[in-house]
Amino acid sequence: MQKNMMILPLRGVVVFPNMTINVEAVRKKSVSAIEEAMATDSLVMLVSQKDPEVSEPEADDIFLVGTIARIKQMVRLPNEGIRVVAQGIERGRIESFSFEGESYSGFVSTVEEAELFDLIEAEAHMRLVIDELEDYNKNGKKLPQDVINAVKEMRVPGLVADTVAAAIVDDLLKRQELLETLDPIERLEKLFAFLDNENKIFGIEQRVRGRVKNQMDKAQRDYYLHEQIKAIHEELGDGEKSLNEELENRIKTSRMPSEVKKKAEKELARMEKMPPAMPESSILRAYLECLVDLPWKKQTEDNLELDNARTILDRDHFGMDKVKERIIEYLAVRALSNSMRGPVLCFVGPPGVGKTSIAKSIAEAVGRKFVRMSLGGLRDEAEIRGHRKTYVGAMPGRIISEMKKAGTVNPVFLFDEIDKMASDYKGDPSSAMLEVLDPEQNNAFRDNFLEVPYDLSNVMFITTANSLEGIPGPLRDRMEIIELSSYTDVEKLRIAQDHLLPKQLKENGMKQGDVTISDEAMLFLINNYTREAGVRSLERQIGAILRKCACRFISNGRKTIKITMKNLTEFAGKQKYFRDDVMLENKVGSATGLAWTSIGGETLEIDVTVYAGSGELLLTGQLGDVMKESARTAFSLIRSRSDRWDIKPEFFKEKDIHIHIPEGATPKDGPSAGITLFSAMVSAITHLQVRGDTAMTSEITLRGRVLPIGGLKEKSLAAFRAGITRIIIPKDNLKDIEDIPKEVAQKIEYLPVDNVDAVLENILVKD
Ligand code: ADP
Repeated sequence: MQKNMMILPLRGVVVFPNMTINVEAVRKKSVSAIEEAMATDSLVMLVSQKDPEVSEPEADDIFLVGTIARIKQMVRLPNEGIRVVAQGIERGRIESFSFEGESYSGFVSTVEEAELFDLIEAEAHMRLVIDELEDYNKNGKKLPQDVINAVKEMRVPGLVADTVAAAIVDDLLKRQELLETLDPIERLEKLFAFLDNENKIFGIEQRVRGRVKNQMDKAQRDYYLHEQIKAIHEELGDGEKSLNEELENRIKTSRMPSEVKKKAEKELARMEKMPPAMPESSILRAYLECLVDLPWKKQTEDNLELDNARTILDRDHFGMDKVKERIIEYLAVRALSNSMRGPVLCFVGPPGVGKTSIAKSIAEAVGRKFVRMSLGGLRDEAEIRGHRKTYVGAMPGRIISEMKKAGTVNPVFLFDEIDKMASDYKGDPSSAMLEVLDPEQNNAFRDNFLEVPYDLSNVMFITTANSLEGIPGPLRDRMEIIELSSYTDVEKLRIAQDHLLPKQLKENGMKQGDVTISDEAMLFLINNYTREAGVRSLERQIGAILRKCACRFISNGRKTIKITMKNLTEFAGKQKYFRDDVMLENKVGSATGLAWTSIGGETLEIDVTVYAGSGELLLTGQLGDVMKESARTAFSLIRSRSDRWDIKPEFFKEKDIHIHIPEGATPKDGPSAGITLFSAMVSAITHLQVRGDTAMTSEITLRGRVLPIGGLKEKSLAAFRAGITRIIIPKDNLKDIEDIPKEVAQKIEYLPVDNVDAVLENILVKD
């Protein structure tokens, strides 16, 4: 059936039967076509232009198959155009055109769909399309739900195909193709292929998008976090940022080795990413500050002028010739060889003999910085090596801290009291010290906090100790031992007048000459206000006197105060020590020994009494094991020789012997008291007097031989201080007499012996 009908060419739109569309017509011919259609049966043939751009289409420019539609509404637009709502009815084909006149028109025939033979196949096709459509919908291509519902209820294959095509196919040619496909099953098949393709593309899209999104997400997250940190930093003020910048600059300008620098930069980057409030951030900051504060290359130039060094050493310290000589030698070698490596010196001697202060002078003489660390009582290895950064409150060890303080890589580094180190479950500090002091290892000292090796090989290490005994063997091997011994009264007098008094005057805000102390008064101070090997209490005593003088200055005006024997007690208070003259008297059952302890020499009184008993040997006072054995040995020796003194065998059954060592403040171990015990016992048993002016020191063997001793100088000084004038020494120690200060050696008579008979010969009063 053909029908003359108005033809409306559409731009970019293919209308399907059953579809409602809005069409806006502006072109004159279209407007009049609509007007004419409205004037008759309201039917129009809607066809699509092949090329939407063509404004005056001719027969070749339009598809021949289109949809016959009924205009349902018409609205005139202000621009003389018309908007209509049209409802597609069925497919139509243009059989002939007429382009004359005001509008397009022509004869149009209706096109029937192909007849369906296999309903089951049609049903299957429908279901497939609907399933795919549902997936398509799920994939986010949102279709109005009513389209899906409508399609599900349609049950007419052609209608389903058209509705779905109208809703989802955008491409003009594709739509036209579907419109021209008259077999509904074929149409459904094409739609299925289209939907399937779309869904596959969607799947691929999703995967690609997912991948890209992941990458994006990470970048975005990082960016976001950075922004947040920035915001926090800004919130906290610019301080943090500028601090970090400052750190960065300091890392750049510090002269760290390159691997240390790399590490520092890495840690800085890590720190910058952390919020400053995080504890780890402050540890990292402390760490980085430690790295930049540490000296890596900076060093002081050694002053190698020997005269200058000698002047400084002599200016500050009296005597100490061995130490001074060693330093001058060191400088001479340095001047020749240019090697930076310093010796490790160990100053051993009693307290207050100037070990610490000479080390300070050495630093000044050589022109190096001076740092000091006391090892006394140190038991935790972490004190030396520091704690790992992971530790709460982690810090570098003391060595690194002191190096930071020194600010140069070659200071004079003093370890005080290296003999007082202890070790416990927290590790052994001496093994760490070994690494510090060993020239083979200390170019890469490991601090737990620092993590990177640190070079200590340019440091000049000096250690001090009161006695060699407390120093672990391996440590002792690496050090050059220089012994400093007690001072005699005369030496103390010189030190006091030339060094301590001027120093104390200065410290108490006085001028030289404001206060003078006569030599006699000073000696009295030395002997009766102090009893020590060094001069520490003496210095304190002088300080106390000067403080009294300062009060005088304030109340009476600044007039020179001269301190002599006459006014000494006024300033120094009461005398503290008295010479024990009783000790110097001849007595029965009492002998004077000489001991050597870490704080210097000491005299040692040994008392023995004999009374009726059952042959026991009683020991009291603070005796060490060695001393107890000495006592037993001496006792056995007496028994084996009892016939010499006509001692009856019953004596050892009927009498008890009691040995007592008074004044047991310092442990009396290994004091070479054998001959003293022996002499006191013989005297007690025989009732022969022991000479009070004589002291003795030596161990004995069971056969009565006398063994050599150590520390004769310290012991002699102690004896001299106590007023002793004769000392019995083993023959083997005769060579040591030359080390004894002249003023002492001249006043003391040394009596060399090699057996106990000779001892008795010299000690018992022959009467
Ligand atoms: P140590 O380290 O041996 O215990 P110090 O170095 O602390 O002794 O010395 C104590 C004080 O005695 C210091 O003020 C020091 O200057 C002074 N002193 C010690 N010996 C001498 C000396 N030979 N000449 C000058 N002053 C000395």
